[in-house]
Amino acid sequence: MTDFSERVEQVSISGIREVFEAAGEDAINLGLGQPDFPTPEHARRAAIEAIEAGKADAYTSNKGTLELREAISAKHERDNGFSVPPENLIATSGGSEALHIALEAHVDPGEEVVYPDPGFVSYEALTHLAGGTPKPVALREDLTLDPGAVENAITDDTAAFVVNSPANPTGAVQSEDDMREFARIADEHDVLCISDEVYEHIVFDGEHRSPMEFADSDNVVVVNACSKTYSMTGWRLGWVAASDERIERMLRVHQYAQACASAPAQYAAEAALSGPQDQVEEMVAAFEERRDLLLDGLSDMGLETPTPRGAFYAMPKVPEGWVEEVIDRGVVVVPGEAFGEHGEGYARISYATGTEELKEAVEIMREATEAVR
Ligand code: PLP
Repeated sequence: MTDFSERVEQVSISGIREVFEAAGEDAINLGLGQPDFPTPEHARRAAIEAIEAGKADAYTSNKGTLELREAISAKHERDNGFSVPPENLIATSGGSEALHIALEAHVDPGEEVVYPDPGFVSYEALTHLAGGTPKPVALREDLTLDPGAVENAITDDTAAFVVNSPANPTGAVQSEDDMREFARIADEHDVLCISDEVYEHIVFDGEHRSPMEFADSDNVVVVNACSKTYSMTGWRLGWVAASDERIERMLRVHQYAQACASAPAQYAAEAALSGPQDQVEEMVAAFEERRDLLLDGLSDMGLETPTPRGAFYAMPKVPEGWVEEVIDRGVVVVPGEAFGEHGEGYARISYATGTEELKEAVEIMREATEAVR
């Protein structure tokens, strides 16, 4: 009989895809975690030119091309309140691999990883795959992560805690004060803070800050990607930023699991990061309009929704049977419990879809809400 590893047996394939399939082909899909915009033309061109010039045929350096890492380094200098030299960056296969190597390199069997619940599904799964023990922490009423709750969850066995702002699935954006607190907790408890910043540019109210700006030690690993900012989910290009020793340890995992990120994607990412940023601004403006449209609709239906201040998700509290009713009527949304036990009673609605479709979906949700009341 096949004997699978205990680690892999603790993880199951995400059920989100089954929800999509159950809804049928004509359904309006508000379940997706990717922007409905094209990758910027200059990024596509850069990959095509690199391929045509024969520059993308071979492995790159394990950490990624120096030019890409210089572009990421310049991006941090431009957009974030911290500096990271190219040697302290590893280009990865999306934010997903970045999270994976961060956890693999830092978590021993039996050690705990603290993360938000509801939260992005990979935190629990990758903790299991690293042999660690998941420690989900419930969110505040406004669906932000409370630094106090994180601090309470930290024990001698904690290997890391994860902060994700703006957040999937809630759209919550942590305040600067919270980020300062996360940095203090990392420093005081000498525990690693993994800051997942893949939605950093999609902020409508307030501003994105990183614990990396405030921690005075090397206790933060920043995870980021081109996926959401540049609508490049299919290209698979992300990165980690960290101190020398942490980068060296994560490189050990990356080197053997991945060798290097896809070379054509590295050229596209370099162009996306260093080229014009106006498409990002246009996308964020479109998301903000749709967020307002959706929030107005949900509020008219009487569904309480903590105001999402970033990303492209809203997470209303919904009555029992609501998700099933909405899906039956042809709109895909994801049940909150897909993101952790504290997600029960909520639904995640992605508004990364056209405005007309979103309006139609709001009407269908309105009918579904009346039907289940
Ligand atoms: N982190 C969060 C919070 C996400 O929502 C996602 C994707 O949905 C990722 C990381 C992974 O992104 P990527 O497509 O770059 O692997």
